[in-house]
Amino acid sequence: MKNILFIAPPAAGKGTQSDLLVQKYGYVHISTGDLLRNIDPQSDLGKEVNELIKMGKLVDDRIVLELLKEKLLSLKSSEHFILDGFPRNLTQAKELEELLSELNMSLDLVISLNVPYDIAFKRALGRLNCPNCKAAYNKFFKPSKVNDICDACGSTLVSRTDDNPETFKVRYEAYMESTMPLIDYYKNAGKLVEVDGVNKTFGRIVSVINDD
Ligand code: AMP
Repeated sequence: MKNILFIAPPAAGKGTQSDLLVQKYGYVHISTGDLLRNIDPQSDLGKEVNELIKMGKLVDDRIVLELLKEKLLSLKSSEHFILDGFPRNLTQAKELEELLSELNMSLDLVISLNVPYDIAFKRALGRLNCPNCKAAYNKFFKPSKVNDICDACGSTLVSRTDDNPETFKVRYEAYMESTMPLIDYYKNAGKLVEVDGVNKTFGRIVSVINDD
């Protein structure tokens, strides 16, 4: 099995595709956004990180790298990972290479999901999650049966603090400026495959993964 990295604009569906791969192949999904959101919000670090997330700004590389290292170290030797949200810039890409070689792990495949701005924008603005069972919904594309209530467990759905029009624009600009250059970086490394992130996405990803 291959260790995978997703590169895509914010709200392009990295999390959704990762969840499907977890179900199908038993991957471990490592989202640095989730790792950061899981820091105790009452702690000093949690407060600082949540402020940055709310503004759409990147969190300090060292904090993210530390969380990532801890998570990678917790993997069993039989487990494979999907990285989502890291690296976000060239510095992090180099740090990732060093970290993986230190841990005797490899990155085998980088999937770039192509999603137009307007669709990513709508996916972000419609995104709702269940804080209890973590089920994911979207007001526009996958609404719950009863407004704002989780179909699975009845909890009230929540939206992310950074899924608003202003912050989405900041996050998208950060993507264009800092993360997009990674597409060429991994293309040169011979690891990149581009996939349509709008139509038949999961089927396309499965064939890419099974391609030798
Ligand atoms: P995401 O869940 O990937 O959309 O990330 C949400 C937010 O978490 C981002 O807008 C950043 O503030 C922060 N974040 C996630 N991953 C990273 C990273 N690799 N480096 C810096 N900040 C990150």
